[in-house]
Amino acid sequence: MKYCRFQFEGQAQYGLVESLAGKEIITRLLLVAPEESGGVENVPSKHVAHLPLSEAKLLAPVRPSKIVCVGRNYRGHAAEMGHEIPKQPLIFFKPPSSLLATGETILRPKSSQRTHYEGELGVVIGKRCRKLAGDEDVRPYILGYTAVNDFSARDLQDVDGQWARAKGFDTFCPVGPLVTEHLDPWAGVGVETRVNGEVRQQGNTRDLIFPLDAIIRFVAEVMTLFPGDLIATGTPQGVGAVVSGDVVEVSVEGVGTLRNPIRDE
Ligand code: MG
Repeated sequence: MKYCRFQFEGQAQYGLVESLAGKEIITRLLLVAPEESGGVENVPSKHVAHLPLSEAKLLAPVRPSKIVCVGRNYRGHAAEMGHEIPKQPLIFFKPPSSLLATGETILRPKSSQRTHYEGELGVVIGKRCRKLAGDEDVRPYILGYTAVNDFSARDLQDVDGQWARAKGFDTFCPVGPLVTEHLDPWAGVGVETRVNGEVRQQGNTRDLIFPLDAIIRFVAEVMTLFPGDLIATGTPQGVGAVVSGDVVEVSVEGVGTLRNPIRDE
């Protein structure tokens, strides 16, 4: 299943996305799983006139109870930041209030002079997940994959012991444009970031220090993951500063391109 979240008849709705004649089309609405606010079920509700994805007013495709991010999960990025390779996943949060849809504007706060993009593969949880058995397969807990820009105030990250401020500003978590289950991050999924059309990051999830099963297992030992929760799996090397007027694009193979302009608050 491939789905988006979009404005339809004045309401936020989930829509099934299908490729028809080489175009991505929202073909019908999907229902949110009844007891789990963030989950999406592939249950037909009512038909939509075929709406091209490119013409839809897209929203962030997830409504997570939490956004769990993994830091320093590519060797190249750990090295460029002058850090050792972590011995276990290094996790932190971004608040759901930082979510942003593709096309919307990232606001650089006045308190930061150095804001960085971080293109990442995002994993969307599909089923409540807590303390997995040692050999349990994590795949049934994954609803799908998306693109995330773990936007960061690097100067504040450097001075704060905790990263809640540096990673948590409103608009600092662009996600989208859609969620798809048709990816295999273990085999390798390309993650590319461009600034004003120029390629800055080119990574592949096969190079993750901690692959998805290790990440999900680690996080689920600590906290219950709910349907709709989002995990940002870490950024490859090539992070860098952006300023007002720049446009950042994060493309994840099979997901599409998450595109956000930047301006000063
Ligand atoms: Mg990151």
